[in-house]
Amino acid sequence: MDTGSHESMSFREGIDRMVDRASLAIGLNPETAKVIQACNAVIQLKFPVGIDGNVEVFTGWWAIHSAHRLPAKGGLRFAPLVNQDETEGLAALMSYKCAIADIPFGGAKGGLLINPGDYTEDQLRKIVRQFTMELARRDFINPATNVPAPDFGTSSREMAWIADTYKALFPDDVNRDACVTGKPLNRGGVPGRTEATGKGVQYALQEFFRHAERVADAGLSDGLSSQRIVIQGLGNVGYHAAKYLAEEDGSTIIAIIERDGVVVNEDGLNVHDVRQYLAETGGLKGFPAGNYSAQGEQALEMECDILIPAALESQVHAGNAMRIKAKLIVEAANGPVTYQADEILRERGITILPDIFVNAGGVTVSYFEWTRNLSHMRFGRLQRGLDELRGMNYLAALESLTGKQTPENLRREIMRGANELDLIRSGLDDTMRMAFRDIVEMLRHHPNISDYRTAAYAIAINKMAQSYYELGLAEPL
Ligand code: GLU
Repeated sequence: MDTGSHESMSFREGIDRMVDRASLAIGLNPETAKVIQACNAVIQLKFPVGIDGNVEVFTGWWAIHSAHRLPAKGGLRFAPLVNQDETEGLAALMSYKCAIADIPFGGAKGGLLINPGDYTEDQLRKIVRQFTMELARRDFINPATNVPAPDFGTSSREMAWIADTYKALFPDDVNRDACVTGKPLNRGGVPGRTEATGKGVQYALQEFFRHAERVADAGLSDGLSSQRIVIQGLGNVGYHAAKYLAEEDGSTIIAIIERDGVVVNEDGLNVHDVRQYLAETGGLKGFPAGNYSAQGEQALEMECDILIPAALESQVHAGNAMRIKAKLIVEAANGPVTYQADEILRERGITILPDIFVNAGGVTVSYFEWTRNLSHMRFGRLQRGLDELRGMNYLAALESLTGKQTPENLRREIMRGANELDLIRSGLDDTMRMAFRDIVEMLRHHPNISDYRTAAYAIAINKMAQSYYELGLAEPL
């Protein structure tokens, strides 16, 4: 998508401006802001891989934005337009995201310049293995210091290949499984990681709608079930967010935007059917239960309650921000609204829930996966049996005291010990709730701050400044 002509700064610079704005609002020393903004290390790799008898040279980056907490954590992106500026910007977002979600990691990001669709599975495996070896050789992948995860263009499949390559290189590293997160279930992954970012978007919105005065401030009314939503991107994040919001909260998904256009149905689209159609045909065109148009970009400007950009960065930019009609923008993607667009939208009174809060669910569950890998034991293994026994005893006591029988559905719930997915979902929900409450607190107590993004950045940079101060790298707050 062409945004370049509308913007006067790069993606990374836009994120730096967001930090500047929050620093100014909380009176942070500008030198400290510079320490926080600096990308600590970035490596560019050019490595050859034999493909069908020819040798192709691939280019990739790994950027470590902050290492005040380790490991530095972030996704590995495979896309034809990846570049160093973007990778550094996305790594910075990871630092702020981890700080807000209270995850003890630094921020990082990786990118490989590739269109995965141009290669077979075997070729991709070879490329991923080589990329992993190049990173490992320079210690840019390691359970203690640098831990990638899925991102745009990658999934649990690539993570399994990375883990396997690392294991072949370092078989005696007892924590080798923790060198990457987002792995398949039987290769050290955890249940709920695949859908974690989308689930996190849902939890973020649920929490927002628990704050009636905030909902009213955004010009919205009623609960999530009355909201009409436009979503851009039906990849892993967009699909799960839309599906849960429609199926569990009763929201109406009136439009889905994808690469080849948009499909609209004011009565609500069946997200699962759209995804299936997309997988089968490669596009939205011809989807029977909605009106198709090739003008996907214009659909961002549709009349709706909530716009959820869940694709790539810079989709709402200085060129279209004036025409956005949504009341609330929920940033499921990383950086979907540019700095300049953000200024315009704020001016126009459109509320934005920022990426560094909204999409923190992915790295939150990655954190759970990493700790599980280090403990070498599934969550709940030690206490599940005990929980069930407690439930049984509690029921027996209740029934003998009251002389009444508990209804069967309640009985089952009380006696059920939490399984691993329950624990992960509960940890994710709690993380999103706490993060939103922290943001609301910041808004309440800081008269200079009136928007969610600046509040979220203020929390993140406060925490990072404190951490750098303790290391002697920044002035006291
Ligand atoms: N790629 C995801 C993100 O941008 C997840 C990163 C992770 O789990 O480390 O937040």
